[in-house]
Amino acid sequence: NKQVLFRNYIGGFPKESDMYISTENTIRLKLPQGSNGVLVKNLVLSCDPFMLFLMHKSDHGGLFGCYTPDSPITGYGVAKILDSGNPKFKKGDLVWGITGFEEYSIITETESLFKIEHTDVPPSYYTGILGMPGITACAGFYEVSTPKKGETVFVSAASGAVGQLVGQLAKLMGCYVVGSAGSKEKVDLLKYKFGFDDAFNYKEEHDLTAALKRYFPEGIDIYFENVGGEMLDAVILNMRKHGRIAVCGMISQYNLAEPEGVKNLMLLIDKRITMQGFVSFDYHTHYSKFLDILLPFIREGKIIYIEDVAEGLDKTPAALVGLFSGRNIGKQVIVVSRE
Ligand code: NDP
Repeated sequence: NKQVLFRNYIGGFPKESDMYISTENTIRLKLPQGSNGVLVKNLVLSCDPFMLFLMHKSDHGGLFGCYTPDSPITGYGVAKILDSGNPKFKKGDLVWGITGFEEYSIITETESLFKIEHTDVPPSYYTGILGMPGITACAGFYEVSTPKKGETVFVSAASGAVGQLVGQLAKLMGCYVVGSAGSKEKVDLLKYKFGFDDAFNYKEEHDLTAALKRYFPEGIDIYFENVGGEMLDAVILNMRKHGRIAVCGMISQYNLAEPEGVKNLMLLIDKRITMQGFVSFDYHTHYSKFLDILLPFIREGKIIYIEDVAEGLDKTPAALVGLFSGRNIGKQVIVVSRE
């Protein structure tokens, strides 16, 4: 049973050497007697920015636990049930949820597992558009941002797992949508593949406030926040009155010893801006509603979803660390097995 093991707690940026691959551990391919868990074969695993927090020993407000040194890292994935002690799942079912970064896992916390009912879409979609990032995009856009047709929407980290979906949902609602990303290739994807109205490379703009003014001369109604820091400051200056900021993530701040101060927060008062943080797992109860929205869009070709596919567990350390340098183009997944 090949596994990706966690080496030891980190401070700052994760490095590839904070994880290592082991082929030594042999898992008993048998559920213990009386277990109500499941034995699974992992098919596709998901690299998500939050996994960084699990590498820090410190307690992040109780939202996340942390990894155990020399144990497999865990995260979201799609898996096939090989054996089940739980009446909700049977052999052969496909599921998505929290699993181990290894070939086979025994999952005891089955409350976090969703049975995959719709198999006419690629299974990997349940790590992205139909999984946790999909719930995040729908919750943040529909529930937190309260969008209306014709409004102006700005999305940062727009070509990633969450951002590419938010932008397309906003376009389908009839909004004007601009995204930012960190390379020309990503900007081209936003404009020519995902149908954003416009996009720019934030790394090439020396004045983000001026850049946003260029794309939003009348101001921004909705900001879907994925990066924080300097970008957030520039956005606040460009928000319209009664604008909404859905705070999904602040990836530019995660690895800093001291997060950057945001200078323009006082403008929230004058501009009557609502700024709300949210967490995907508070919206699990909305999952079937979100599927009803997303599945028809996928089947009718109205939404495109791009994945960055790495083959094999060996690729996990580089793929995971790459999220923090923008190496991934689209949703980063690891294919462990095709069946
Ligand atoms: P992505 O697929 O977008 O991958 C991360 C991307 O972030 C990189 O590709 C890179 O793109 C960008 N990035 C990395 N470092 C920086 C930086 N210093 N400044 C600006 N951009 C940077 O990840 P996800 O779509 O999975 O996640 C997007 C955000 O949403 C993250 O902040 C994440 O933590 C958050 N999130 C929150 C959830 C919640 O429940 N609230 C759930 C899921 C995700 P580029 O090349 O464009 O710079």
